[in-house]
Amino acid sequence: MSDEFQEMPEDWSRALAVVAHPDDMEFGAAGAVARWTTAGKSVAYLVASRGEAGIDSMAPEKAAEVREAEQRASAAVVGAAGVEFLDHPDGRIEYSTGLRRELAAAIRRHRPELVLGFCHHDQTSTGRWNSPDHRNTGRALLDAVGDAANRWVFPEDGDPWQGVRYVAMSNSPRPTHAVDISDCVDLAVASLEAHTSYLAAMRPPVTDVRGPLLGLAQATGARFGGRPAIAFELIPR
Ligand SMILES: [Zn+2]
Repeated sequence: MSDEFQEMPEDWSRALAVVAHPDDMEFGAAGAVARWTTAGKSVAYLVASRGEAGIDSMAPEKAAEVREAEQRASAAVVGAAGVEFLDHPDGRIEYSTGLRRELAAAIRRHRPELVLGFCHHDQTSTGRWNSPDHRNTGRALLDAVGDAANRWVFPEDGDPWQGVRYVAMSNSPRPTHAVDISDCVDLAVASLEAHTSYLAAMRPPVTDVRGPLLGLAQATGARFGGRPAIAFELIPR
């Protein structure tokens, strides 16, 4: 069928995932990360903010601590190769040359073949208006892949890295590819559940993570041979 998703490329060994907030990976690509790390691939996380504005009932200084710890725990569940934080202000992440520079430096340091991001469009896969943090981080990331490859752009921030072969965005309204997570649903669920304080503080509190995550994976699977899956928009390069 012509509207079936294509298989995400898996002929790579190192990935770097860059998102705006703790939980962006878990509401998006974590099930795919679990599949890939189980297969021996390395996937590192870089999070632009500490998510300090994400809990209405908790002051930002405390929330930053809690959410950082929860993000590290959830990354460990799916075998991610560590989490770094950039300390941009949650809710006020700006698209800037400075952000591009930080992301290009990270790409040069990690030398990924696959770069993963979170939806950079005005609207996400749900049809809702996207958060400016997601848009700005996603768009800066897409630009930083090119910056990282050019030795004359940010020359003081490491040697150029031209080895990025694939760039894929989760939660996109225009997905093109998918990853079968049949064997990783439990890990994806546990990874999201690790955001304990955040989920409990949502209104209403989120008590069932498995239902919605599995529902989404099955809806994606309807265009992927019936296999529960995570969808990505593979950005042509
Ligand atoms: Zn987010």
